[in-house]
Amino acid sequence: MLSPRALLLPSLFCLISVAAAAPPPDPPISAHAHQLHFSSIVLDTHDDTTQRFFTKDFDLGKRNAEGHVDIPRMREGGMNAIFFSIWIDGRIMGPPAVQKALDQIDAVHENVRKFSRDMVFARTAADVRRAHAQGKIAALMGVEGGHMIGNDIRMVRIFADLGVRYMTLSHFYNDEWADSSTDKPAHNGLTDFGKQIVLEMNRQGMLVDISHVSDKTFYDALEVSKAPLIASHSSCRALCNHPRDMSDDMIKALAAKGGVIQINYEKSFIDQAYKDAYDKETGGVVSHLNELTKHCNNDEGCIAREMAQLQKKLIEEGKLPHVSWERIIDHIDHAVKLVGADHVGLGSDFDGADMPDGLEDCSKLPKITEALLDRGYSDSDIRKILGENTLRLLEQAERVSREMQAAH
Ligand SMILES: [Zn+2]
Repeated sequence: MLSPRALLLPSLFCLISVAAAAPPPDPPISAHAHQLHFSSIVLDTHDDTTQRFFTKDFDLGKRNAEGHVDIPRMREGGMNAIFFSIWIDGRIMGPPAVQKALDQIDAVHENVRKFSRDMVFARTAADVRRAHAQGKIAALMGVEGGHMIGNDIRMVRIFADLGVRYMTLSHFYNDEWADSSTDKPAHNGLTDFGKQIVLEMNRQGMLVDISHVSDKTFYDALEVSKAPLIASHSSCRALCNHPRDMSDDMIKALAAKGGVIQINYEKSFIDQAYKDAYDKETGGVVSHLNELTKHCNNDEGCIAREMAQLQKKLIEEGKLPHVSWERIIDHIDHAVKLVGADHVGLGSDFDGADMPDGLEDCSKLPKITEALLDRGYSDSDIRKILGENTLRLLEQAERVSREMQAAH
């Protein structure tokens, strides 16, 4: 979750959708792209769809007019594995954060049970492959923000037991033990306790996610972690200079230790002109959010409404530029040219971000496969980007976990 829309509450989705026009139909993709895409494991590592489970009009099993993900559109877009994000605002800490995490973990399990004809819960790379072989969608979970463990290392183990396969060390704000990329440094990266958390995640086979964290937190996690890291939803700073994105040096360091950057589709992370215009109009997402929180006296519904109205107004006034979905391909291509196809994947941020024109929801994913073929990528490299790299990371985390547990 990330953008203005991220902090958003369920009610906001409906508000935003009022302004959104239905995406135009695309011409069919080539037979080669179709065959490749629909025979691959297409694993998206960051989806905020979980928030929608708590809205009364959302039905995962039906095609919804709003939002970016549901089972019919996943089938249409060949997205057959998904990380449901477990998230609340990073300013909520302690036991209330843990409670919210548990509520959402339960909601994911309940939805997977409810739609078991199409979906199956996955804890391992082998589970994902088995689901694919059975024609089912694999559902995984990631916790977005270390604040959600309530500063209690035992929650890492409990979350792992409940099926959580990655945890993002921070969200928009610093937590008790890790600095965020969008907050003022408070811990000089990871505290000693934060380093213990990383090692406990390794021991539990939970991927260490460095999206959202400060550069120093990233380098600390990279040094401490015994397993490769994932950036579950981050793009390239060389193409769009946003603190949420990764510099070329960071991407190289991540890849050198076997990690993977999963490209985020959020408009303000992939397009410099859009980011500049957005920042100019709002002062940037975090300061804008802080302002609105004060203005709305912490009323989340009011914050969501105000954000949606402002965005609608800016679009109508032409103050925010058009962003093409092809920017996503530019970011994939940049990262691949930098570190190779073994270290790049897809982390859309669906249902938590503003999608560029042409990739309005997950039904449009086959376009990515076709665009990569058009740029000369091999079938095997495309399969890696679509999902195989993430499966490799999961397998490595599982191996490290077994080794660490055997050592004690
Ligand atoms: Zn996020």
